[in-house]
Amino acid sequence: MEKQVVESSRAAFLSGRSRALGFRVQQLKALRKMMTERRSDICEALKQDLNKSGFDAQLFELLGLEGEISLAVDRLAEWAKPRPVEKTLLTISDQVFIQPQPLGVVLIIGAWNYPWAVTLQPLIGAIAAGNAAVVKPSELSEHSSRLLKELLPQYLDEEMYPVVTGGVPETQELLRQRFDHIFYTGGSSVGRLVMEAAARHLTPVTLELGGKSPCYIHKDCDLTIACRRITWGKFTNCGQTCIAPDYILCEPSIQATVVEEIRRTLQEFYGDDPMTSPDYGRIISQRHFSRVVALLEGCTVALGGSSDQSQRYIAPTVLTEVAADSKVMQEEIFGPLLPIVTVSGVEEAIRFINEREKPLALYVFSSSNKVTQRMLAETSSGGVTVNDVMMHYTQSSLPFGGVGLSGMGQYHGRHTFDQLSHLRGCMLRPLALEGLNRARYPPQDPARLRRA
Ligand code: NAD
Repeated sequence: MEKQVVESSRAAFLSGRSRALGFRVQQLKALRKMMTERRSDICEALKQDLNKSGFDAQLFELLGLEGEISLAVDRLAEWAKPRPVEKTLLTISDQVFIQPQPLGVVLIIGAWNYPWAVTLQPLIGAIAAGNAAVVKPSELSEHSSRLLKELLPQYLDEEMYPVVTGGVPETQELLRQRFDHIFYTGGSSVGRLVMEAAARHLTPVTLELGGKSPCYIHKDCDLTIACRRITWGKFTNCGQTCIAPDYILCEPSIQATVVEEIRRTLQEFYGDDPMTSPDYGRIISQRHFSRVVALLEGCTVALGGSSDQSQRYIAPTVLTEVAADSKVMQEEIFGPLLPIVTVSGVEEAIRFINEREKPLALYVFSSSNKVTQRMLAETSSGGVTVNDVMMHYTQSSLPFGGVGLSGMGQYHGRHTFDQLSHLRGCMLRPLALEGLNRARYPPQDPARLRRA
């Protein structure tokens, strides 16, 4: 079944119709039409999967996708045209350029936390770059996954961009097939399996993974503003955001104020009882619920800490006095728990970050340029936002992706187009001026090289 889907997608690619820019623009516009016409169905599916509010569905999933489509539609002609490069004296009369070419059939494997954003954003790039694509949404966000399977063929070329739903067996069967690129979003253990499967066919991969994204708050900054921004980024989607601040690093002298500011902000955002707030999400599955609750074991709870398994609800929770070797500091939390680890200042914060795996994102709050410049110069992460969280993700001109264990490859805007294109080096020479080439032909005469 999966094999036939891939074969038929390849046949669609080989028909050549996706090479025409007009076709790509028409497909991108059809995708935008799908999102506009079926907005309320999409929001409803997200409500059922994650208790995501309509506002968050719009802000975190649909707006970004619409922006990416408009950008691709507007800029496609410029992105796809040959890119002239520098020449040397020997190639001065040649045409030397980079020709972006479609790769072929791309496999897109999506995650469940932002099921529309992380599945369709790579698809936008795949369409723009002229590829065919097999789309595999996550089985955990089952309402979104089912709806995507129903909608996509109604709007797009269904042979070229088929949707395969299902879980591990279906994904594994897909991974046995040969693709020209695999674009995977999800956890790093499955990321390894994806890369192993890709290696069998020497297929290049983009791995959008996760990790523990640190958030350093320097004592000189406006803590009210810093904590409001951090609270928003951490607790939106119930903490299930790949670039959510995973933990806070700060000096002991500001820890109590940080907790107090987060408490006030939580009250402002979600009222007295976040369980009854229409703006507070739920954990995706029972397995993830148990995993996150287990991380609380042995922790000092400063705020929240309650949970209700029947609703997969976990209260926004802040943990203090967290030891660097505690369980909650060993893996990506991916839930609404925010540990605070105290450090003596920027020097120790940098050491703490560098002793761990390279994170997907890094956040620094400080009014001192010296502090932020040190953080930028002396640490590494997929991306970084200073004095806010997650906002670098929204800037299409910035490449988005991980480094080290947080992933490989980049996307968003033109970066997705380039990631899913072959950048072919082309040199077109005239048959004239043969005299200039004599020096390289046998019989060898070193004197000619010296004169050249
Ligand atoms: P998930 O469980 O939905 O898995 C992701 C995909 O892998 C799904 O399509 C699933 O069907 C497939 N899959 C699962 N097990 C498999 C197996 N054994 N073999 C083959 N395929 C398999 O998602 P998840 O891993 O729980 O996602 C959460 C992770 O994703 C977090 O670590 C988060 O940080 C990361 N994430 C990263 C980004 C990013 O842009 N970098 C975005 C969202 C999520």
